[in-house]
Order: sequence, then structure tokens, then C-alpha cells
Amino acid sequence: MSDAIKKFQAHAGRIIRLNEAAGLLGWDQQTFMPPAAAESRAEQLATLSELIHEMSTSKEMGDLIASAEAETAALDPDSDEARTMKKARRDYDIATKLPTELVAEIARHETLSHEVWVKARQHADFAGFAPSLKKMFDLTRQKAECLGYTDHIYDALIDLYEPGMKHADVAKMFSEMKPGLVELTHAIADSSNPVDNSVVHGDFPGDKQREVTLKLIDAIGFDRKRGRQDEAAHPFCAGFNRNDVRLTTRIDPQYFSQAMYASLHEAGHGMYEQGSPEHFEGTVLAGGVSLGIHESQSRLWENLVGRSRAFVGWAFPMIQEAFPQKLGSVSSEQFYRAVNNVEPSLVRVEADEVTYNLHVLMRFELESAILSGKLDIDDLPDAWDTLSEQYLGIMPPDDGKGCLQDVHWSAGLIGYFPTYTLGNLVSGQIWNAINKALPDVNALMAKGEFAPILEWLRTNIHQHASKFEPSELILKATGEPLTSCYYVDYLTSKYSEIYSL
Ligand code: ZN
Repeated sequence: MSDAIKKFQAHAGRIIRLNEAAGLLGWDQQTFMPPAAAESRAEQLATLSELIHEMSTSKEMGDLIASAEAETAALDPDSDEARTMKKARRDYDIATKLPTELVAEIARHETLSHEVWVKARQHADFAGFAPSLKKMFDLTRQKAECLGYTDHIYDALIDLYEPGMKHADVAKMFSEMKPGLVELTHAIADSSNPVDNSVVHGDFPGDKQREVTLKLIDAIGFDRKRGRQDEAAHPFCAGFNRNDVRLTTRIDPQYFSQAMYASLHEAGHGMYEQGSPEHFEGTVLAGGVSLGIHESQSRLWENLVGRSRAFVGWAFPMIQEAFPQKLGSVSSEQFYRAVNNVEPSLVRVEADEVTYNLHVLMRFELESAILSGKLDIDDLPDAWDTLSEQYLGIMPPDDGKGCLQDVHWSAGLIGYFPTYTLGNLVSGQIWNAINKALPDVNALMAKGEFAPILEWLRTNIHQHASKFEPSELILKATGEPLTSCYYVDYLTSKYSEIYSL
């Protein structure tokens, strides 16, 4: 490694360690921090983020990148060094293209608009939130103009979450899957063989849930010597580096499958971080590459594996033993049907595998229309209700359960939603590739043997960490560019059988 690259790595390494420390403080805030520490924690985090921003955008950083780039110019563009500098240049350009005043104004407005949103949502008062939302979209438009784009203003925003992805790609992905999904959702609603999910509701003692979820994440391969699981109001995974990955789950003593699937989901994120290779440790190439690819890992373990008949068949005797009173006379097949209940609901975060993507589609269509000036903020509630009726067949009783339900827009996360669906599609495409590589994958899962699945993911996804752009990674791992067909086929065949369609 040349001198210039070494110097850059040393500077970038310090920023990475500061980010890890900030992440740990954030994790603590949502798990164990005493309430009175909130103010000092906010100060600690603000100080760290200021320092990180200064170091990431300094002239020194610019010079270090420029010298290192000069030395990588002659190298193979796929070498680790060249990819490191490509990633560093991208991060630096994004951080320095935005004027400091705009960044500060957005940050101030985020805090303010979040507070207004919390109240507006409580009282289902869209008119109270509309001025804040207008300002948020205006600021976001300014941000997109500074970042730059060629085709659609949306491109500048989604690129922040899913490098390389464009509005046209997302529109294509949805137009391919929309007819099939809408049709399947309506057919399930009219099915003569509905699912009874009462077996997962009732008395499920919390300590037993904790034990069972740990057994499940251990079994699929989450390494608790390099991570742990705790509890939080909103489950999340915080991976500081490959050797320190924190999962959280949510235990509701009256509802078992929530904790079970939150744990499998977060462990999927966690194993991706744990699979980042040792030689990228402390560099800009370490860790998961994008939100969409991250979500493909969590959804794969949660749904394609965790909600399969083979997985449930293996896990159910252990679950039944933990809750003999509630599940003693329940069959594995009843449990399998219960955890695969599909029911159009108003709220995205409660949605099942089938209807989830329709929630995302609505949000994508609406935010694109607002950004490109085709939809006025004042007309958002009506536009929301119309799409809800059209796609999900249900109409929100008020805006609190309608267009005010998500935190994202109030927090300036515009262009973010499609990464959820992208994750689902990629999970379907990866699962298809795994089935080709491991034709007996169902037999393996039925025996509780998950190592071959994790091994495939390690080799084809995890070991590349952030070296390649998401689209390159998908092509490398599955042999074809992103397509929605595998995911839609998976949903159609699975749910046609469950609901006798
Ligand atoms: Zn997730």
C-alpha cells in the first residue's frame, strides 16, 4: 500500500472509530440509559457529530483523498485500494456539496417538524402539520439541487440510501410487481379459507420469549461472542463493527410472533455486519453497503427462512415446549398458518409480507409527485386515501392512521421508502439463487441446519461488505440484474397454497 493511501486510511480510521463510539452512545440511549441522562447524551452526540463532520469535510481530508487517488489511478479499478478511494470520494463529495447553512437549517427544521408531527398525528390534524411538511419538501428540493442529478430530482435523494439507484429503476420495479400484488391482495381478502391467527396471541411469559428468541438466533448463526440481544421499544440492529453487533427485540407478553420475527429480522442485519471481512475492519469498505441490501438480509431470515414451513416445522417443538399451556394442543401447521396471516391493514409497520410493498408503493408515488410539483401538499390526504382504497381496499378513518402515520417525512427521510421494497425483492432473488445452489435447502432447514445458507450469504454477499455498489453486488451474487419476478412468484405460490386460491 502506498504512503498516500496509508495516510488517508489513518485519517479515515479515526473518523470510523468516532462513528462507532457515537453509535454505541445511541444504542445505550435506546436500551439502558437512565431517563435523566437524556440532555447530557444529546450534548455528547452533538459534540461527536460536529467533530466527525469537521474531520470528514476538512481541507486535510480533501488533500488526502486527492493524493491517494493520484496513486490509485493506475491500479485495477476493482482492487480494494481503488474501491476504497472511489467510496471515499463519493462520501466526501456528498458531505461537501451541501452548504453548511443548508445543513444547519435542515437539522433545525427536522427537530421542529418532528415535534409538530408527533402532535398532529395524535390529533389526526393534517392542517397543523402541512406548513412544516411544505417547508421540509422545500428544503429537500434545495438539498437535491445541491447534490445534483440528471434525470429526476428523486435520483439525488434515493442515491443517499441506495447508491446508484434512480427514480426510473424504482418506477420499473413497482410497475412490474403492482398488478400481481394488487390482484393477490384482493384474492386473499376474498378467500374461503381464511387464516386463524389466535394461536400466537394470548399468554406468552416474557422470560420464556427471551429464551426462545436467543435459541432461534443462535441456531441461525448469530454469533453472541461478537454481539448481544437486548430489548427496545422499536427493534433495531446497531453494528459498530464486525466484532460488536447489538440487536434489540420487542417482547409483548400477549403476542409471541412479534418477538420471534423481530429477533430473526434483526439477527439477519446483525449477521451481515458480522460477516464483513477482517481485512476491511476500520476502513471505509467495512460493513453493509446500503439500506436495501441490508434489508434483503433481514427479510431473508425473517420471511423466506423464518416463515417457511420447513423452518416452522423445525422450530415449533422447541417453541411448544416453552409455552405448553398456550401451544400444548396446537399443531405445527396451525402455527405456520398463523404466522403467515395476510390482512390488509392501515398501518405499514403492522403489514404482512404481501401487503407491505403496496404501502411502500403508495408512499413512493406520493413523494415523487410532491417533489416534481405534480401534487400539492394540501391535496396529500385525499391522494393518500384514494391510493389506500385502490391498492389495499381500505380507507383510513382519519389522517392519523393515514398520511400522518410515518415518521419519515417529518424527519426529512424523503426518497427512503423504496429501500424497504428493494430489500424484499433482493431477498427473493437471493433465495432463488440459494435454492439453485442448495437444492435440498428445505430438508436442511427442517433439520435445523442453517449453516449452509449462512455460508452462501457469507461467500456471495457478506465478504464484499461495501466494496461494490448494490447493483454490482446483486449481479455478482445472483448472476442477473435486479428483477421483481422471483419475489412476486414466491409470494404468489406460497399464499395461493395457504389461502387455497
Ligand atoms: Zn430491517
